[in-house]
Amino acid sequence: MIAGQPLATWTRRFPLLEELMALRETTWFTAIRAPLADGLGDLALSAADVADASARLARFAAYFRVAFPETLASHGILESPIQPLPALQAVLASRYGQALPGALWIKQDSHLPISGSIKARGGIYEVLKHAERLALEAGLLRPDQDYSVLDSPQARAFFSRYRIAVGSTGNLGLSIGLMGARLGFQVTVHMSADARQWKKDKLRAHGVNVMEYQSDYSIAVAQGRRQASTDPACHFVDDENSTDLFLGYAVAAERLSRQLAQAGVRVDAEHPLFVYLPCGVGGGPGGVAFGLKLAFGDAVHCIFAEPTHSPCMLLGVHTGLHDEVSVQDFGIDNLTAADGLAVGRASGFVGRAMQRLIEGYYTVSDDELHALVWLMAKHQQLHLEPSAVAGVPGIARVQAQRDQYLQRSGLSAAAYARATHLVWATGGSMVPDTEMQAYLAQGARVLQGS
Ligand SMILES: *Cc1c(COP(=O)(O)O)cnc(C)c1O
Repeated sequence: MIAGQPLATWTRRFPLLEELMALRETTWFTAIRAPLADGLGDLALSAADVADASARLARFAAYFRVAFPETLASHGILESPIQPLPALQAVLASRYGQALPGALWIKQDSHLPISGSIKARGGIYEVLKHAERLALEAGLLRPDQDYSVLDSPQARAFFSRYRIAVGSTGNLGLSIGLMGARLGFQVTVHMSADARQWKKDKLRAHGVNVMEYQSDYSIAVAQGRRQASTDPACHFVDDENSTDLFLGYAVAAERLSRQLAQAGVRVDAEHPLFVYLPCGVGGGPGGVAFGLKLAFGDAVHCIFAEPTHSPCMLLGVHTGLHDEVSVQDFGIDNLTAADGLAVGRASGFVGRAMQRLIEGYYTVSDDELHALVWLMAKHQQLHLEPSAVAGVPGIARVQAQRDQYLQRSGLSAAAYARATHLVWATGGSMVPDTEMQAYLAQGARVLQGS
C-alpha cells in the first residue's frame, strides 16, 4: 500500500510510473503552461524577500573580502561565470541524433567560491543570516557597521557559544560546515551514506563534527533535526523546509540577468530562456527557479533534472503526493553516482509551492551522467561532478517533443529557434583529482560501449 492505495491503482492512474520504476530515462512536461500573471507560485514569499536576501549578501561582502581573499576579485560577492558551449552543443546534436536549434550556455555554479557547488548560495546565506541576527542582538555588530568585524577573535569567541547542525548528502554539509566553522560556530554535519569521503575529511580538517549514517539523506536529516531540537543553542538548517535556503538560491537570478545582458544575450517573449536545473530535495532548483520567474517572467522556462534512481520530485509532483511518498515506496533504490541528487523524498514545501511554475521534469541514467562528465571535459575543458551535468540533456529533451512543447506553452517556432538554453552546472570544481579521474574513466567506458 502506498499512501492508502495499492501500487496497481497508482500505476493505472499514472502510467509514467511504470517507466520510472523500470529506471528508464523519461521526460514529462506538464499539460499546460501556467502564466505568471496567475501568481508567483503558491508561496508566501515575494520579490521583497529576495531583495532582502540580496541586500544581506551585499552587507557581508566586506566580510568575505577579508575572510576569503579568493572573493576579492568579485568584490566579496560569491558568484559564478556563464559561458557558451558551442563545441558541446554540436556533440550533443550528434549524440542524441537531432538538430539542436538555439544557443547552449552553462552557468558554472561548479566554480562558486568557498564550497564549489550551488550550496554556496543557499547554505552560506542561511549561516550568514543566523550569524547576523545573533551578532546584532548581542550588540557585537551595528547595522551600519563594516561586517569585516565579524572576522575577528572576539566574534569567533562569541559564535563559538552557538551550534549549527545540518543533514546532507555532502555539498550542503560542506557549505554550512566551512562557512560556520570560519565564523566560529560549532558545526555538526549529519552525512548520508552517499557523502564522498573527501568531503568528510575536508570538514573534519576544519574542525567540523561529522556524523556518518549508513542510510540515505532523509534519515540523516531526521537524525540531525531530532538532535538539534533538544538544544536551544543549536540552529538546524532544514534542507526540506527552509525558506532562508530557498531565498539564498533565488538571488542567483538577478545576477544571471546582469550577466546575460552584459554578454549581449536577450531574454524576452521573442527570445525565451530555457534553464535546466539538477534537482535533489528541490530547494536549490526551486529557489533559483523562483528568482528566475521574478527576473524574467514568462520568458523563462524552468525544467528539473533528476537521476533515474532518484526521481523524487518528478514522482511527488506527477502523482500529487509530494513528500507523502518516497522513491523507495515504488521500489526505486535511490542509489546513484550523482550524490548531490541522491534524495528519495522531495521537499513538500518546494513541490507544492513551485509546481505551477515548472515546465517539466526528466530523468538521466548514471551511465549518461558519466558520459556527459567526460564529454564536457573533452570538448569544453570543464570538470564537473555527475550531479552537475544532469541539466545537459535538457535541450535535447525539449527538442524531442518540440511540437507538443510549443503547443502547451504558446511559444512560436521562430521564438523557440532563437532560444538560449542554460545548463545549470551545480558542482565539481573542488572534486579531488583522483576522484575526477575515476568519473572520467567511467565516462570513457560508457562511451566506448555505446
Ligand atoms: C544539492 C545539489 C543539487 C540540488 O539541490 P537540491 O536543493 O538538493 O535540490 C544539485 N547539484 C548538486 C551538485 C548539489 O550538491
